[in-house]
Amino acid sequence: MKHDVIIVGGGPTGSAAAAMLSREWDVAVLEEHDVSGLPIQCTGLVSPVVMKLAGSRQEPLNAFRGAYIHFPDGRRLSVMSPDVKAVVIDRAAFDQELAEKARDAGANFLYKHRYLGRRYDNYNHIHTDRGDMKCRLLVGADGQKSRVADDIGSRPPREWVRGMQVDIALPDGSDLVDIHIGRKVAPGFFAWRMPCGDFTRVGLCVAWEYGPPSSYLHNFLRKLGLEDIKVIARHSGKIPLGGRGRTYSDGALLVGDAAGQVKPVSGGGLQPGLTAVRCLVETANEALRLNKLNASYLKRYEKRWRGVLGRELGNGYRLRQIYTSIGDDEMNRVAEMVDRPDISEILNSGDIDHPSELAPHILRMAPGLLRLSPRLLMAMLMR
Ligand SMILES: Cc1cc2nc3c(=O)[nH]c(=O)nc-3n(C[C@H](O)[C@H](O)[C@H](O)COP(=O)(O)OP(=O)(O)OC[C@H]3O[C@@H](n4cnc5c(N)ncnc54)[C@H](O)[C@@H]3O)c2cc1C
Repeated sequence: MKHDVIIVGGGPTGSAAAAMLSREWDVAVLEEHDVSGLPIQCTGLVSPVVMKLAGSRQEPLNAFRGAYIHFPDGRRLSVMSPDVKAVVIDRAAFDQELAEKARDAGANFLYKHRYLGRRYDNYNHIHTDRGDMKCRLLVGADGQKSRVADDIGSRPPREWVRGMQVDIALPDGSDLVDIHIGRKVAPGFFAWRMPCGDFTRVGLCVAWEYGPPSSYLHNFLRKLGLEDIKVIARHSGKIPLGGRGRTYSDGALLVGDAAGQVKPVSGGGLQPGLTAVRCLVETANEALRLNKLNASYLKRYEKRWRGVLGRELGNGYRLRQIYTSIGDDEMNRVAEMVDRPDISEILNSGDIDHPSELAPHILRMAPGLLRLSPRLLMAMLMR
């Protein structure tokens, strides 16, 4: 069967791209599961911007104005705003909503179809576990373990972190999230306690070299005194950090986790992924209309999305490198240096999609922070 576009992955980026491209083209979406959005591999914390980008009408589970950040020595910093800074959503329902929109726009969803590989000769010959297909443009929206990315020879992400979370039967409607940092709690990342209205979501990620996150999660629940509360759901997954290599090749483009479009500080992939979808759709429409689907034409996609997201993702990764290179004592010293009303005001003004934009302001106020990593921090200030 011949299509203009085949998208591998019926997750949020695949469905969002399918909805937009189906306005003009014959689009098929290959999804290996029998439904979009399951199993859940996400906490579902997003900025209100993401709901707009997705055109979602979903009622969030809860809305947040800020967070408490807990440091290893027990110090607690608060970041608060009068406005809603983030919401927590039901990720399965969100993914299903986006898939339904794409189907309404005309995309053909082929569930239980696994992409296995491709051969390219000015046409993509796609091999699936349910037979072979052809298309002019292949879009890899197949998540962090992207097979499409491997097939086009894109360098793997610099690292992955492993995450695990539980939903526990503890109703909590607070509008503040608790974030815990420190090597004992969640080495190489952070832990969260998120009030979700009828229940509470508790989870963490750890850097790859620290092994599976289950024992850290068990200890974290104990530390919070929540280990005996009934678990109603359990999710786990991997987050690619540090970006991938090339996100285009002859006849193919990558988007979302498959393209390494993930915020390095928080691990959030929905905002960058859905932002990049727009760059992808713009490029794909032009390329399909002109029938110029070679790598030298599709390259403009990479230029476009890096133009919008590159600075935040690059600086975010520099912040992450500093964060993972310091020990608990240095983290505590950072807390001492930034626990001031003027810096608190700066922190309160930030947003979860652009955390690195605050760094230059904070460094100006607390230049002692430069000692943490002069090279990386200066590189951030120069960009
Ligand atoms: C523990 C954890 C917590 C997270 N929390 C947040 C958060 O709070 N906020 C946030 O913004 N992000 C969060 N993320 C990241 C977020 O989940 C991802 O960035 C997002 O799902 C990426 O969307 P995507 O469409 O690119 O890929 P995915 O959602 O991974 O979708 C890829 C789809 O492709 C399908 N697929 C894969 N391979 C094939 C194949 N060979 N053939 C056919 N189909 C295939 C998969 O089944 C899947 O449906 C979290 C991730 C984890 C692991």
